[in-house]
Amino acid sequence: MHKGIESTAAAVTERAIGRAHALASSFLASLPERLVSHVPSPEEMATALDEPLPETGSDPAAVLDEWFTRAERGITASPGPRFFGFVNGGVTPAALAGDWLASAIDQNAGLWASSPAAAQTELVVLRWLKDLFGLPAEWSGAMTSGATMANLVGLIAARQWAGQCLGFDASGDGLAGHPPIHVVSSTEIHLSARKCLGTLGFGRNQVRKAAAPGGSVDIAALAELLGEISGPVIIVGNAGEVNTGHFDDLAALADLRDAHPGGAWLHVDGAFGLFAGTSPRFAHLSLGIERADSVASDAHKWLNVPYDSGFAFVRDAAILREAFLTSGEYVLGSAGWDPFTHVPEMSRRFRALAAWCALKAFGREGYRALVERCVDNAAAFANWVEATPGLELMNSAPLNIVCFRIIREGLDRAATDDLNRAAVRAIQIDGRAFLTGTLWHGHAAIRAAFDNWQTTLQDVHILQFAVTRVAGLL
Ligand SMILES: *Cc1c(COP(=O)(O)O)cnc(C)c1O
Repeated sequence: MHKGIESTAAAVTERAIGRAHALASSFLASLPERLVSHVPSPEEMATALDEPLPETGSDPAAVLDEWFTRAERGITASPGPRFFGFVNGGVTPAALAGDWLASAIDQNAGLWASSPAAAQTELVVLRWLKDLFGLPAEWSGAMTSGATMANLVGLIAARQWAGQCLGFDASGDGLAGHPPIHVVSSTEIHLSARKCLGTLGFGRNQVRKAAAPGGSVDIAALAELLGEISGPVIIVGNAGEVNTGHFDDLAALADLRDAHPGGAWLHVDGAFGLFAGTSPRFAHLSLGIERADSVASDAHKWLNVPYDSGFAFVRDAAILREAFLTSGEYVLGSAGWDPFTHVPEMSRRFRALAAWCALKAFGREGYRALVERCVDNAAAFANWVEATPGLELMNSAPLNIVCFRIIREGLDRAATDDLNRAAVRAIQIDGRAFLTGTLWHGHAAIRAAFDNWQTTLQDVHILQFAVTRVAGLL
């Protein structure tokens, strides 16, 4: 069949990616002015997007246009400078371009054989990240889809180690019929780590938690918990607790690990807190992390690469490999490093390219400046909260998260909680800035997280204005 030049695959692709480029460019250009969220209802989004499976095809460029128009009210300006919700980063120019190229070249980054370029790039990125955070160069690791999967990788290695201590192969033979493996952490253990413990057969609810009054685990209380456990134990440390950004004393956790008679493994969740190590001003917070056995972190938070991206490091390469040891004739005989032997997935996205481009474009210097700028913005906001009557800082803000609430004379506890929950929603609806809520020590509170490479002090002032308006403090 004869096809005109316009309908060759190359021409169709060119039109489609040209359209994606145009849509992306106008979205990115609109970020500084755009409402951060329209807070559409599920009904509104269903009405905009639900339809039966198309019976026939459409032009790819037209498909993109249609999706963007129909979905637009549900697109959050989270890569923009005034999204302070959860702990989200934005995407840097280099990371975005790298991610686009990764889609275009469509490498399978699971095996060396399927993409030597992807596997080698990932090795380099992992080495750069260890260097950036002061972790030992010889540690093993891999990129993951985020900190949850990075926690899973670290905890799988921990489970393998504990099985070895007890005389069995945990990933090979399973946990049934063997003595239980104990897990201890603080009350501030992140829900994602608990999710991993459930996935791994430890049980989400089996983790023993020591008190963490200011967000940082009470070392004496943890030591007491450990004293009640005779066998091998997994300690989950928190380097950056998600509500207020406080850190466990990691060196003290490493000491407890060393002293535990039955042996212990220290896993540290450093989803955003690991980045404290990029600046001499904040490196004391994560001091001791280099003594951990495994460390989990996120790239789509403070590295500011696109979703989804994270990374895990494990001190003992042999244990990590054993945890994922499988064989299949069709993947044997690799000449180089096979990432899939270090993570749960087999085929996987070439996430390392966005991270490589981001790290190369900013350098060590650029990331240090980014982290310092974010923490300075957080400090400016925290100072403003403290100085503003009608607002209360819920905890000190050592890094990039500020937790606060609105207080009003004469309001009881329940009414204060209701007021703060309503305020979070009102700020989101206002759209100038985006914040999320939490519970801190039983009180409804509001969080602002500062991770975005583009956020300026001017954006912090806009956030302050939005809070002031909603809190009725004008
Ligand atoms: C965000 C976060 C996680 C989960 O990370 P994902 O990338 O969302 O999977 C885990 N721990 C902490 C402390 C976090 O802030």
